[in-house]
This record gives sequence, structure tokens and C-alpha cells, in this order.
Amino acid sequence: MEFKVIADYFDKLEKISSRIQLTATLADLFKNTDKTVIDKVVYLIQGKLWPDFTGQPEIGIGEKFLIKAISIATSAKEEEIEKEFKNLGDLGQVAFNLKQNTQNSSILSYFGSQISQGLTVEEAYDDLVKIATSQGEGSRDIKIRILAGLLKKATPLEAKYLVRFVDGRLRVGIGDATVLDALAITFGGGQNFRPLIERAYNLRADLGNIAKVLVENGIEAIKTIKPQPGIPIRPMLAERLSDPQEMMEKMNNIALVDYKYDGERAQIHKSKDNIFIFSRRLENITSQYPDVVEYVSNFIRGEEFIVEGEVIPVDPESGEMRPFQELMHRKRKSDIHEAIKEYPVNVFLFDLMYYEGEDYTVKPLPERRKKLESILSQNDKIHIATHIIVDNTDKLKEFFYQAISEGAEGVMLKSISNDSIYQAGSRGWLWIKFKRDYQSEMADTVDLVLVGAFYGKGKKGGKYSSFLMAAYNPDKDVFETVCKVASGFTDEELDNLQKKIEELKRSDKHPRVDSEMIPDVWVTPSLVAEIIGAEITISPLHTCCKDNYEKGGLSVRFPRFIRWRPDKSPEDATTSKEIYEMYNSQLKKIDDKTSENI
Ligand code: ATP
Repeated sequence: MEFKVIADYFDKLEKISSRIQLTATLADLFKNTDKTVIDKVVYLIQGKLWPDFTGQPEIGIGEKFLIKAISIATSAKEEEIEKEFKNLGDLGQVAFNLKQNTQNSSILSYFGSQISQGLTVEEAYDDLVKIATSQGEGSRDIKIRILAGLLKKATPLEAKYLVRFVDGRLRVGIGDATVLDALAITFGGGQNFRPLIERAYNLRADLGNIAKVLVENGIEAIKTIKPQPGIPIRPMLAERLSDPQEMMEKMNNIALVDYKYDGERAQIHKSKDNIFIFSRRLENITSQYPDVVEYVSNFIRGEEFIVEGEVIPVDPESGEMRPFQELMHRKRKSDIHEAIKEYPVNVFLFDLMYYEGEDYTVKPLPERRKKLESILSQNDKIHIATHIIVDNTDKLKEFFYQAISEGAEGVMLKSISNDSIYQAGSRGWLWIKFKRDYQSEMADTVDLVLVGAFYGKGKKGGKYSSFLMAAYNPDKDVFETVCKVASGFTDEELDNLQKKIEELKRSDKHPRVDSEMIPDVWVTPSLVAEIIGAEITISPLHTCCKDNYEKGGLSVRFPRFIRWRPDKSPEDATTSKEIYEMYNSQLKKIDDKTSENI
């Protein structure tokens, strides 16, 4: 397949701002894509070579070397490219202009041989893979040489998008939700097939794999798709409530209640001799936990399975739970074997989703837990989450206090009804979280995405000191602003943030951000922060749920930063709908208080 086809569509997509049109154009691209490369095309439009969970490296060429490659390919001087880059702010456009000038002058002087032939998707992809995977001594020169070769052969438009891809600035603004809609249109004939495709995606969070199954075996195969060890399942999530009685009512007065551990969620896959561990945001974190790999391989029976639990740091002496922040040492330490000794962990398993070819996500929780217990040899390193069956509020409260006194964060109520399946990728009432209170009117914190930053005044002049934060709206696949947060950061956190913003800043608003406010710099949605506030109010400045109210959108009043949530991707942020529900339950509380006082 010609790479030109993709470049032409990139060009179209970039000019579209309506989601409907974006989806239709993407569906059109899928129709025009060769069967053999559909997965690659899906990854490329998302600015990737492969899904994040593979843990394989992405391109990794800095701007300086990108300029070198453009210079080799076009014979333009590096200084000239740098100057144009300063003018245009986009290396892709610079490459386009240079290629076009070369071609025009070649045509004028009848040097047809200078005209680039264009690339195929296969060769572009294969070379990009070579660039990403070449490592060690001399790899920098190899990367530059391969890229220069590609750019030489590319047409001007192909060069523009190749450069943007390598630079990590594709700017076509396509999220997973839009890809799912487009796949439904192309392979199912309409958007009404979206739930079916989404279910498959929830079980195998690899859009390329799903597209391949659709192309090769059609929509019927999608209906019967099962989890596949090695491809992460999108996690099942809990709803939140603060009143124990309401929780029990939601559970029909009977529930399995687990300790809610404050650690790192771990989805553990075994496939023959390989063990993989995926994080809450489905990144491959296997290398951080060689000890967990060993526990799983020694103490869980089976050839192929997927289980889920929480990894928590424990005191090496007493075995007591330690604060979740200690897990960060696992991420920083270059010598992981030292970290294992200094910061040991325990694993508390709470679910089983797949076992020896059988899809357990469709089975009710009691059956999943029974199987999990039967395959695990429990010991002091790897256990089943502490739990009881609860059928009244007093018992629930008692267990909750016991959990907290032992260092847990609270409890998780889980439905044990016949329909208590593992709802991959969705937040529902089959699980309810009951956490320690945060001494605030807001019953829980929210996780918001950084989309813009403002310079401070006075002492903080010249530094970014307040930040525009947004919730995720999955229906529209956009980020809607909720507040501007300036407090709660330590000086060190603020300093680190300056650097991160320099990397993520952009000259224009990201196409997936919906904002009335205009910050000093826009930021590509990528960082997620946990925020607490006094309450949720309506504000004319914010866009979250703005269609529901005349006077503006929902906003968090007096927001305060608590911590970064590197385990969450922007699409895992609190959704606009959740903020809407939090607002409504807050209104209900105020109503209840008022009627108590009457
Ligand atoms: P969410 O994952 O719901 O978006 P979050 O990441 O902010 O929210 P919490 O709201 O604190 O986290 O609660 C959910 C998390 O609790 C799960 O993702 C999981 O990591 C953790 N957890 C700890 N113990 C359990 C348990 N027994 N069952 C399920 N999840 C548990």
C-alpha cells in the first residue's frame, strides 16, 4: 500500500474539527487500507509503532538529529532548516517546503530523476521500526541515515507527516474512541456496531489486533472474541458512594467486601513460559517486579491465565503495609535487584479473568474467586485479598474500620449476584469503593488532565504557576475544563513541572480540548493529577457538562493538587459524567441537611 494514501488522509484529518466528520474520514481511510497492513495503519494514525503495553521503544530521535536527517535528504543546510523551523514552528512543514522546492527546481531543469517516487506503508513502517529498535554505539548515526533515506524517497506530503510522526507531533487528534467508531462504520456498516467492537477492545486493549480480527474474520469473529494472554484487558472500575447504607442498598443487601489496598494495580498474565505484568493504565511494568514474576510462577498453577491484584510495599522487618509512594523506588532504581531487597512487596489478588482457554470475565464473581482460590498456593508473599461476605451496614462499617486500622485505604464492595461479571473497561455499580474521608465536602478526589498553564505574577513571575485542568468526556472524546489549580504544589514539584510543560507545550489548543479559557500556553493532554476541592459549582469559565446548564459548566471550587497519577492515562481521568454525578449527590446532601433543619 502506498504511504501517500495515509499522508493524504492525514492532510484531510488535520483540517477537520467536527468529530462526526473525523470519524467518517477515518472510516474511509480504513476502507482504502490493504488488509495486510490494517494494524500498522491503526498504530500510525495514533502516532505509535505498536501499542504501549508491548514495552517496545518508540522512535526516540531528538529535534537536532531530525534536522540533520532533513538536511541530508534535501541538501539544505542545517542552519537554514533551523531558521525556517523558528519561523514556522513545525519541522514537518519545513520538510514539506524543502522537498517541494527541490521537486519544482528539478521539474524546471528537466531533472526528472530528482523527483521522489514515494514510499510504501510497509517500507516506511519497517524502517521506522529499525530506527526505534537500533540501540547502542553508533545507533544515532544509523537512525539518522535510515530516516534520511526515507525522507529522500518520500513525496513532500509524505515527508511532512513522517517528520511529524518522528517528532511525536502528528496533530491529527484521534483518540481510541474515534478509532472504535470508525472501525464500526467500516466493518459493521454503522455506528450501532460500536458496542460490539468496544467489548472486544475491552477484552483485548489492542486496536491493531481488533482491526486485524475484523479484516480477517469479520464482525462474527468479534462477537466471540476472548481475552488473549499477553494483551491487557481494560480494567473493571468501581463507582463511589459515601453512605454505607446506600452502598448496601445498591448491592441488594449482600456483597463480598475486600480490603482496598493502596498500592499499584497489577494485571498479571501467564502465557506458556512468559509472565507479563500490566499497570492500571496498561503499561508493561514486568521489569519493575521480578519478585512478583517469581511468586506467580511458583505459586499459581496453570499454563495460561490472567489474574488481577494489588501490589503493595511492605516493611522488610515487620511485613506491615507501607505507603504506596515507596513503589516509586522500583521505577527509579537502575539496579532493580537492590530495590527488591530494600522495598519488598506483597501481592493481594482479587480477580481471575482467564484460565486455560476459558473466558472467566463472563462468569459471576463467586465462580471467579473460587477458581482463583483453587489455583493459588497462598503464603506470606502472595495472597487473596482479605474479605468477608456482608449482609448489613453495621458489619460493613466494622470491617471498614478494621481495614483502615490495618493500613488499608478502605474497602471495596463487590456484587455476588448472578450477573456479577467482570465488566472490563467500565465503571459500574457491581463494585463500589468505600474510602477514608478527605475532610471535605467533596466525597472523593478527582483525577484531572493538565491542558494549559498560566504564568505567575510577583514572586512567581516568569514561571508557570497555575494550571488548567480538565475532565474526560468519552462520548465526545474531548477534555472539558473543570478548574485552574495553583495550590498544593511543593517548590520541587513546581520546578519539575516547568520542565515537563516545556516538553508538552504547543502553540495552539489541542484538538481534543474544549476550553473557554485561554491559558498562556496550551499543553498536550498527557499528565493526570489528583485534585481535591471544597465543592463542585457551576462556573461560566468552564466547559465540563456545559450543555446541561444555562450559566456555564461544572467546576471544582478551591482546587488543591494532591499528587500526580502517573498510573493513569488522560482517558482514565475522572469523566465529565462522574463530575455531574458528584455534583448531583452533593446537591442531594445539601437538600437532606436543609430538611433535617426544618
Ligand atoms: P479508579 O481505578 O476507580 O479510576 P483510582 O485509580 O483513583 O480509581 P481508587 O478510586 O482509589 O483508585 O480505587 C480503585 C482502585 O483500587 C483499583 O484500580 C485498584 O487498583 C485498587 N484496589 C485495591 N484493592 C482492591 C480490591 N480488593 N479490589 C479491586 N480494586 C482494588
